[in-house]
Amino acid sequence: MRPRTIAIDGPAASGKTTVGETLARRLGYLFLDTGVMYRAVTWAALRDNVAVGDEHRVIELAEELEIRITDSTPQDDGRHYTVLVDGDDVTWHIRSPAVDANVSVVAAYRGVRRALVPVQRRLARQGPVVMAGRDIGTVVLPDAELKIFLDATVEERARRRWEETRNRSDGEIDYRDVLDSMRRRDRIDKNRDVSPLRPARDAVVIDTTELSIDKVVEEAHRLVEERGCP
Ligand code: C5P
Repeated sequence: MRPRTIAIDGPAASGKTTVGETLARRLGYLFLDTGVMYRAVTWAALRDNVAVGDEHRVIELAEELEIRITDSTPQDDGRHYTVLVDGDDVTWHIRSPAVDANVSVVAAYRGVRRALVPVQRRLARQGPVVMAGRDIGTVVLPDAELKIFLDATVEERARRRWEETRNRSDGEIDYRDVLDSMRRRDRIDKNRDVSPLRPARDAVVIDTTELSIDKVVEEAHRLVEERGCP
């Protein structure tokens, strides 16, 4: 039997979403990118002029928001899925530099995680799942049958994010700004008290710095089939 619960963790732009999504499609599994939820709360705080440093109000927002992730509205703009917050389509808004700059502060609040993690676990119980994030193998689904940790140098990850953002936006994006923002986010994600970013002890670590996305997908698929052997 193939593993039915697959955790993919790693830092920003390590390839989690593309690999997770492709793998889930091939296997016919549900895919959930948990970063979307932390981004949605951050976007809502910015929308409502709630200072991200106001822990109490940010936690209230995380408890109240209705976040829905659906792939039922196909749009020809490069999206893999649609994210709705209180009914509004925020799929691209949650990818803005402002959200990038603030999301790690929001995600470090214990109360925010206490609101979102049960939702993630509930979704995982709906069927075989590939779930991507920072703490899936360590905290959200510690019993996942396969845990993959994707990594790459920060320079390479910033380059990937810079290219993606440049292709999507009208204005010029400075590579150095993307690199600085990513370094800051890595630092907060790795050093926070609650659910810090780190590979689970039983995770398979793949360094994607020099690998094409197809190669990483192949390797992940191979691991799935390997785990499936008696
Ligand atoms: O994966 P993505 O870059 O979209 O995640 C955005 C941010 O959300 C991360 O930098 C991290 O602070 C937070 N996050 C988290 N735990 C997860 C997924 C994301 O803390 N499981």
